Amino acid sequence: MAIDVDSVRADTPGCANVLHLNNAGASLPPAIVLERVKAHLDLEAEIGGYEAADRTEDEYERVYASVARMLGCAPQEIALVESATRAWDAAFYALAEGFQPGDKILTAANEYVSNYLAFLQVARQRGIEIVVVPGEENGEISLPALQAAIAQHDHRVKLIALTHVPTNGGLVQPAAAVGRIARAREIPFLLDACQSAGQMPLNVDELGCDMLSATGRKYLRAPRGTGFLYVRQALLEKLEPSFLDMRSATWTARDSYEIRKDARRFETWESSLACRLGLGVAVEYAMAVDLAKIAERIAMLAEQLREQLARIPGVTVRDLPGKANQIRCGIVTFTRERHAAQTIFERMRDRQINVRVTAVGSTRLDMEQRGLTEMVRASVHYYNTEEELARFSQAVAAM
Ligand SMILES: *Cc1c(COP(=O)(O)O)cnc(C)c1O
Repeated sequence: MAIDVDSVRADTPGCANVLHLNNAGASLPPAIVLERVKAHLDLEAEIGGYEAADRTEDEYERVYASVARMLGCAPQEIALVESATRAWDAAFYALAEGFQPGDKILTAANEYVSNYLAFLQVARQRGIEIVVVPGEENGEISLPALQAAIAQHDHRVKLIALTHVPTNGGLVQPAAAVGRIARAREIPFLLDACQSAGQMPLNVDELGCDMLSATGRKYLRAPRGTGFLYVRQALLEKLEPSFLDMRSATWTARDSYEIRKDARRFETWESSLACRLGLGVAVEYAMAVDLAKIAERIAMLAEQLREQLARIPGVTVRDLPGKANQIRCGIVTFTRERHAAQTIFERMRDRQINVRVTAVGSTRLDMEQRGLTEMVRASVHYYNTEEELARFSQAVAAM
């Protein structure tokens, strides 16, 4: 059975107000997510914040179980944090503690800006080198080039870091194939799944990643200010967090402490419980809708949108030419002759259509390679309709 679009739209209050094509920025949450957040804030106001936490302790534990079930891992391998960036940073900077001058990080040309900034900082501080593995013509990381880079640098390769779905187009990186290579060579593999979580099924064993970071607010439809990190059990105790607090460690005697053994070693004590309970509801909702069906519908809608936009004179859809049967995801990027991306964004905003401008600084290596400075990003979700896509395309054509 296909997704019941009328019913998921009825669950989503925002659908009545806006034509939302900024799902790669932040999706519209289902009402039950919103209600869960509000109810917890009410409870905190009514009985006290700590007391509200005591009352919802079991439900809070189940948030870990929900995220773990979605990823196919154990709840002990999940840390809940405030953003995907903090999740990614927690893993990366912990690993970086062991980097020596001359060590290499292997990554791809469309790695996310914040990740790349962290590479640059650690390169400067520790004398390591960032190796950008060349891409295929369709933008996918080249697996032979990855193998060759590993062979060339051998034991100096200390990390493979990949963005599963880069923020600036429909590309889905062959993460599982990268994972197999990483595992065969026993190189830690950090996967940024920020745009793929909630958009497609994810299984950490199939992906072969040792660490995975994601956000709540994008395709998962959870509140802003939520994110999570997965760290494989075998790696957990080898990764010492860069920061400690009373959540991540215990002060056992005057001069000693013990770091937690589970992934919560990467958490801090304070957090927005309301938002995290909302995250749990959003994850359960996504699994109930069915992530395989979600992926299929998003890919179908996005392909339709690409075709419609490509027919508009002056519009260029900015995905690289794909291979036969290549599946692209919900992120559709385009430019239009004589129209700045910002102008298109503003015109759409005036019509209650939400799109976004993606600028060179978000994925600098890829955008510079392709001579692009900015694009319009229209990212579809399963609750969008074919009628909405037609309305959006007509609005772009009418400019
Ligand atoms: C949005 C995004 C991030 C950052 O997520 P935050 O929750 O804002 O920290 C990281 N990686 C990718 C690929 C993204 O699209």
